[in-house]
Amino acid sequence: MEFEIPSGEPPTDVELDRERHLRLTWPDGRISTFALESLRANCPCAQCRGLRAQGKPVYNEHSSVPLTAIHAELVGNWGITIRWSDGHDTGIHAWAVLAS
Ligand SMILES: [Zn+2]
Repeated sequence: MEFEIPSGEPPTDVELDRERHLRLTWPDGRISTFALESLRANCPCAQCRGLRAQGKPVYNEHSSVPLTAIHAELVGNWGITIRWSDGHDTGIHAWAVLAS
């Protein structure tokens, strides 16, 4: 396989507040909270990486409609994908990255 999946221990608890944040509890008891805007802005998919490389915003930060998370789904045991209110859903946030 050419594609390298970063490995990391999955959280023991995943809490999505669809209007505010994603909160993860790690096996060592540590809690990480990610604001939705920052997760969306750092979306790891190829499209968003390309936009960031060109210095372009990956989503409309000035929209009159606030960004929310419609749905979150675990991807195997290595990460989580979020479907955003702007229709984007291709980014997979790896536990290894979120835990660092
Ligand atoms: Zn993306």
